[in-house]
Amino acid sequence: MSDLRDEDAKRDLGDTFRRLIAATGPISLAHFMGESNQRYYADKRPIGGQGGDFITAPEVSQMFGELIGLWLSDIWIRAGRTEPVHYVELGPGRGTLARDACRAMKRYNVEPRVHLVETSRRLRDAQLAANPNAIHHHDLSTVPTEGPLLIVANEFLDALPVRQLVKTNEGWREVMVGVDADGNFIEMPGRQPMDSAVPEARRGDAPGTVIETSPASATIMFEVAGRLRDQDGAALFIDYGYRHGRSGSTIQAVKDHRKVGIFDTPGDVDLSAHVDFAQMEQIALSRDARVLGTVPQGEWLQALGIRERADALAEYAPQHREALMLARDRLIEPDQMGELFKVMGLVAPGWPDGAGFPVR
Ligand code: SAH
Repeated sequence: MSDLRDEDAKRDLGDTFRRLIAATGPISLAHFMGESNQRYYADKRPIGGQGGDFITAPEVSQMFGELIGLWLSDIWIRAGRTEPVHYVELGPGRGTLARDACRAMKRYNVEPRVHLVETSRRLRDAQLAANPNAIHHHDLSTVPTEGPLLIVANEFLDALPVRQLVKTNEGWREVMVGVDADGNFIEMPGRQPMDSAVPEARRGDAPGTVIETSPASATIMFEVAGRLRDQDGAALFIDYGYRHGRSGSTIQAVKDHRKVGIFDTPGDVDLSAHVDFAQMEQIALSRDARVLGTVPQGEWLQALGIRERADALAEYAPQHREALMLARDRLIEPDQMGELFKVMGLVAPGWPDGAGFPVR
């Protein structure tokens, strides 16, 4: 298997795209993003302060995963402690969040079976090192259908490919990726009319307007909400995104903690897009899940007691006080991760309210 992986890694994805485009014409932006990220997560070491391209909340501090474990334990206990219970994480990265959350849950005598949904073999190895008892899945379809699911996804939806539609003088078209005379990737409107894919209220928008959607995220939310309805449980989706409709492209590329061009070096940079939480909520509701709401990460972590937790840890290890306070601030301050990042909570119908979300 690893030989195959190395062979794939040697082939430049940009050249593969160029050959494909030369043979069959422009490819959709969603196709470009999907394949680029698949290659990126399969081959690179994306996450981490040093040697990684970006850092995520669980890697900033153990407090993040611990508070998530606390939230999940609390809601499962109040919902009646039905067994068997499953911890399910989507896109677990280095496995840090799963490890920290499960350690915290164990303190409350909550010991769920651990299921990690991950496509990258390389990241699976790291996840197993951190969570030796975890069972891996390629997607949700093989996750057990008996017993409540405690589902977590941090910076997962933002990695899934988005589709963009652009209003041209001839009507709505899908945004495609072609190649110019110098071999550079360029965006261009597709040939096929896409007006029927645009909500009626938006069809008259001015030329140049871009509408971005994430069919892959919608599919995940549809599946998760349906699972909660059918087998009970709760889910937390944490990501950067917005709660009120907006338009325009939100795709960005990051390499080595810096923003780069989205077409620069496909497969070698992390591509992500903002999550449309209003749409995610609508989909969850349409499947009869109970939406607890979507709140800024900083508010949510403070409601769960991150300040008290940081103080307690600092008391215990005074030599780490400064680092702990810096990490806490990084997670909650509005000008850092506190405001742009949101926490969306949903539970099975009939399950109780969750800590940190407004009472409905
Ligand atoms: N949650 C982690 C990692 C975020 S990066 C953290 O917070 O640190 C995105 C993660 O999603 C990676 O583990 C990546 O390999 C995984 N991933 C991306 N696309 C996926 C897909 N379609 N199915 C399953 N996992 C995916």
